[in-house]
Amino acid sequence: MCTGTDKRGLIDKLHRERCLDAREFAELLTDFTDEDAQYLFSKSRAVADSFFGKRIYTRGLIEFTNHCKNNCFYCGIRRGNTAAERYRLGKDEILECCAGGYELGFRTFVLQGGEDPWYSDDMLVDIISSIRRSYPDCAITLSIGERTYEQYKKYREAGADRYLLRHETANREHYYRLHPGEMSYENRRRCLYDLKKLGYQVGAGFMVGSPWQTVDNIVEDLLFIKELEPEMVGIGPFIPHHDTPFASFPAGEAQMTLFLIGILRLMLPNALIPATTALGTVHPRGRELGILAGANVVMPNLSPVGVRKKYSLYDNKICTGEEAAECRHCLQSRMKGIGYELVVDRGDFVKEAVQEPVKKAVKEAVQ
Ligand code: SAM
Repeated sequence: MCTGTDKRGLIDKLHRERCLDAREFAELLTDFTDEDAQYLFSKSRAVADSFFGKRIYTRGLIEFTNHCKNNCFYCGIRRGNTAAERYRLGKDEILECCAGGYELGFRTFVLQGGEDPWYSDDMLVDIISSIRRSYPDCAITLSIGERTYEQYKKYREAGADRYLLRHETANREHYYRLHPGEMSYENRRRCLYDLKKLGYQVGAGFMVGSPWQTVDNIVEDLLFIKELEPEMVGIGPFIPHHDTPFASFPAGEAQMTLFLIGILRLMLPNALIPATTALGTVHPRGRELGILAGANVVMPNLSPVGVRKKYSLYDNKICTGEEAAECRHCLQSRMKGIGYELVVDRGDFVKEAVQEPVKKAVKEAVQ
């Protein structure tokens, strides 16, 4: 087993080389102490600060449908959950969410939902292009699951810039313990590569502490992410939902999630990494700690309050009762409390070579 000092050596190596081999990652992730974590966070936070300063990007999340044709074992809006109260937002309601969000300073809208074929491609193209026309200065992010190359192409041509599609787990066997056999591990990966080919800024990611997840599975996740080189990485703890087959599994740990955020920041220094709502659900200061571990994005909810509770992926989800303005205000003061500020900015991924002058400007502003 690795001693504390060895773990520091591994963290230093990761900081220097931006990757470790599978054995080293496994050692780092096994039995780390709070002191090891603090050591990692001191590095990962400094790396994030050197790229982004004290600026935290916000994304306005619009959860526009909780209908889903899939039956993922972990998810509260899975097809098989007959207790879920279903809803859909129409184009006008989605545009109203964007209008409210724009007023509040959001310059990225994330349209997220279950995989809901009720929205035809023509409808989606119409929604995306209407947002694009009304808000030419905003980024449009989609998170609507697995589609064909041609569908992704249509959405891209209509004006979508980014796509969030967590790979969920990079281990094939583990994938089929989390998903029914009718779903496909290969297809999910194919989607991510297609999205990259089409020029989307792509977000991959996984749940921490999902049932049967091993340290080796997490190592495979990290190595897959290194290979894919996504512009965004979303990770959050698995949290059980009472009406799913995984109701009795324990939630993932905040500390492991934070440790992985720190590792990801050292692996992908300029990536966009959110401090997720799920992290804020398992720990009252989860999002603040996420930022201090190296995250640089928060995603407050812009969905109408009337539907918030229905987008119930897991139990006890936070921020389901407040108006968008309250959410933004709350997050603003949470970030202020740790010395960071929410910015009015699209918050695009910027390649490192281009980022250098920005880093220099941030450094000069701090001095
Ligand atoms: N349908 C789209 C997709 O498949 O990417 C987007 C919606 S899906 C509900 C968004 C993410 O929620 C999933 O990628 C999954 O990682 C996360 N999620 C679902 N159930 C969860 C749970 N019980 N705990 C934590 N995260 C969960």
